[in-house]
Amino acid sequence: MIPATFDYERAESVEQAVELLSADEDAKLLAGGHSLLPLMKLRLARPSKLVDIGRLVDLSYVREDGDRIAIGALTRHHDVHHSPVLDEHCALVSYTAGLIGDPQVRHMGTIGGSVAHGDPASDMPTVLLALDAEVVAQGPDGSRTIPASEFFTGLFETALHPSEVLTEIRVPKLAGAGWSYQKFHRRAQDWAIVGVAAVTRNGDAAVAFTNMGEKPLRASAVEQALGGGADPGSAAQLAAEGTNPPSDTFASAEYRQALAEVLVRRALEEARGRAGG
Ligand code: FAD
Repeated sequence: MIPATFDYERAESVEQAVELLSADEDAKLLAGGHSLLPLMKLRLARPSKLVDIGRLVDLSYVREDGDRIAIGALTRHHDVHHSPVLDEHCALVSYTAGLIGDPQVRHMGTIGGSVAHGDPASDMPTVLLALDAEVVAQGPDGSRTIPASEFFTGLFETALHPSEVLTEIRVPKLAGAGWSYQKFHRRAQDWAIVGVAAVTRNGDAAVAFTNMGEKPLRASAVEQALGGGADPGSAAQLAAEGTNPPSDTFASAEYRQALAEVLVRRALEEARGRAGG
């Protein structure tokens, strides 16, 4: 398929990207292009202009920042996966990046693009939700920080304004907390039929879902049950509560809800094992 015609401009800085977006409300940022270009080829997206930020190397980094790790928006999935800083302090993120697509996707796709795209089937948004991560956006009026819990607003919708550039993602250091990401898919490089992220600390747990609704979701009923002392198996029985999964050629909604229960139990058991109890 051939996309509709569009203009193209390469931004030399975040500020210039913001200016270009502000000047044309139908312009779109191009990062790794691995979500946007397929949509354009199907004509499900028809931006008037692509503002290419793919070569803003200043936005490609992983570094410690106090009790957090700062990840530049243009950091490729491959580099997130192989980051020693993340491996040491927040291995849930580096591990999950290694499960995204295939090597080609991981060498081109960026963490910022994955998050800004707002696809409920994406893996990293779920992980960021479970981690209570923060997203930093720069727009015409300066920079703002958005909690992950407020960032994903609907199907392919986020709290980003059309003229904002996502510049950084901040995740907490896990410091002994347990973690797990369970991705259920038919072939190694496929998207998740369902995914579950879990972070456990001192009896508390944060649990979030991939592909169980219009956006990444926290498993609130599971979390409350665990907070009240339930064991992983009993808490997992509440996994379907508050979810609205899709039915498609891979699985029905009912199958996804049954699968979610199994994956939540596995995620909690693995996370608790890693935390040492
Ligand atoms: P782009 O495609 O360039 O952009 C995506 C959207 O985000 C666009 O609307 C763009 O304007 C916007 N955007 C990009 N960067 C910014 C920014 N810094 N600030 C504001 N807006 C921005 N993902 C998974 O999670 N799991 C998978 O298993 C998986 N499998 C895949 C398999 C294939 C074959 C393909 C093609 C993709 C797959 N993906 C998967 C998606 C992949 O991770 C994409 O790379 C990612 O979703 C988008 O990142 P990108 O850098 O390519 O963004």
